[in-house]
Amino acid sequence: MGLMTKDEYIESIRALKPVAYMFGERVTNIVDNPRLRAGIEATGATYELASKPENRDLMVTMSPLINEPVSRFNLPPGSTEDLVARVKVNRMVANYVGTCHQRCTGLDCLSTLAIVTYDIDQKYGTSYNKNFLEFLKHMQKNDLTGNAGVTDVKGDRSLNPHEQVDKDMFLRVVEKRDDGIVVRGAKAHQTGSLSSHEIIVLPTRAMSKEDKDYAVSFAIPSDTPGLIHVVGRSSLDMREIDGADCGNVYYSKYCPTLIFDDVFVPWNRVFCCGESEFASDLVIKFSSFHRQSHGGCKSGKIDCMIGTALTLMDYNGTAKVSHLKQKVIDMIHRAETLYACCLASSYEGKAQPSGAYFIDTVLANASKIHEGKEMAEATRLMIDACGGFVADLPSDRDFANPEVGDLLKKYLKAVDNVPVEKRVKMYRLAEKLALESADTISDIHGGGSPEAHRVTIFRETNINSKKKSAKRLAGITD
Ligand SMILES: Cc1cc2nc3c(=O)[nH]c(=O)nc-3n(C[C@H](O)[C@H](O)[C@H](O)COP(=O)(O)OP(=O)(O)OC[C@H]3O[C@@H](n4cnc5c(N)ncnc54)[C@H](O)[C@@H]3O)c2cc1C
Repeated sequence: MGLMTKDEYIESIRALKPVAYMFGERVTNIVDNPRLRAGIEATGATYELASKPENRDLMVTMSPLINEPVSRFNLPPGSTEDLVARVKVNRMVANYVGTCHQRCTGLDCLSTLAIVTYDIDQKYGTSYNKNFLEFLKHMQKNDLTGNAGVTDVKGDRSLNPHEQVDKDMFLRVVEKRDDGIVVRGAKAHQTGSLSSHEIIVLPTRAMSKEDKDYAVSFAIPSDTPGLIHVVGRSSLDMREIDGADCGNVYYSKYCPTLIFDDVFVPWNRVFCCGESEFASDLVIKFSSFHRQSHGGCKSGKIDCMIGTALTLMDYNGTAKVSHLKQKVIDMIHRAETLYACCLASSYEGKAQPSGAYFIDTVLANASKIHEGKEMAEATRLMIDACGGFVADLPSDRDFANPEVGDLLKKYLKAVDNVPVEKRVKMYRLAEKLALESADTISDIHGGGSPEAHRVTIFRETNINSKKKSAKRLAGITD
């Protein structure tokens, strides 16, 4: 099949027939539903940009597996250059769509499985890596999008999976058959699951031997029987449904809860089943890759915020105000330190036994902590520079109303040479960048909650070498 154009991608999603619900009703036409379409458009941008000659070197590369050009979103890193490209691609696409493009999570799963399936096979003589490589060929040859099914609903957070009153609070294997396994459970916050061809499942946390039924990884098409996508609310979702007050923003993010109601998975799509000690490796590697992806993406989103602040300063007559210039500088340094941290985690990456490359986890997690705090600060600075209409701009319908429209256009104009329509469009973008909950809350919880980043940093840092150098400087020998 080869690389898809954006239109081919959209038609390939149309061909899928997933079971989906939104606002209490079954949605059968996913692609033409305006709320879901805005998310599909954001993923579609990865296809659109890859088709442009000027982006091809960055976004398309040769796959050593199938010896054909493939999207970087389907290439587990095999070199430092590949690790660096992950960050650059994410920054470019996020800057283009101003929200989550939803395609990085699939790559983060593929990158993880390229390492860990090999390690499991080395220990147990299983054939998970062969299964994975066949799946990877399918992803690469057909230029597919994968979704990361990682976060279980988790029930009572103080209990392990097997201790839960309802045993289905973490996704588990309920039946093993000759031809495959049957799984039950639910994954929460599934970014772009309906924009994806494949759902790639990994365990959500470390598992003990008692939890071995929960140590499971596999991939299945997003319309597999028994999968139910229930699309979650996001703060601006009715704008897309209404088709009003969206400005010129065509892109969005949605995150369903994904229920696995006794879903059959054939053995050739299983990548881990019961090898409980590898659950932690799967989730740690995924989260580290995903935290690195986030940094590239969110530095691209801050780029959009900077452009929005600067343009509204032009439109409002505040372009020369020095404290606003300082605030823009503060936004730029936040974007660049985030980007630098992710690039550094790539440059410090190392080859793993399978030959795939893994990033530096301490730097990737440091970047995610930085993101969690500094995206909020960048948003605050943008809102400060733009002014209060980020919060409460009247509706386009009021601007079009014959009784009040002209009055609004008169009073909402700022500098003389900028038409009020341009100012309104830019405020709609500022509102979207600041307040689209499905995107902004991922700054904090995407890739794991902030405490998970801190715990990983402490666990992965070489604490003893730091103590040793302090003792040497103090003249202490133990
Ligand atoms: C917008 C968005 C998009 C996302 N996209 C995806 C996706 O595509 N795929 C996917 O798999 N996941 C996705 N996630 C899920 C994300 O990884 C989780 O939200 C995150 O791991 C936190 O889990 P939780 O939401 O269940 O919160 P909780 O785990 O309930 O955490 C809430 C708080 O309680 C603390 N806490 C919870 N349990 C414990 C405990 N036992 N001990 C100590 N502290 C505890 C946490 O540290 C945190 O501070 C997304 C999340 C968001 C918000």
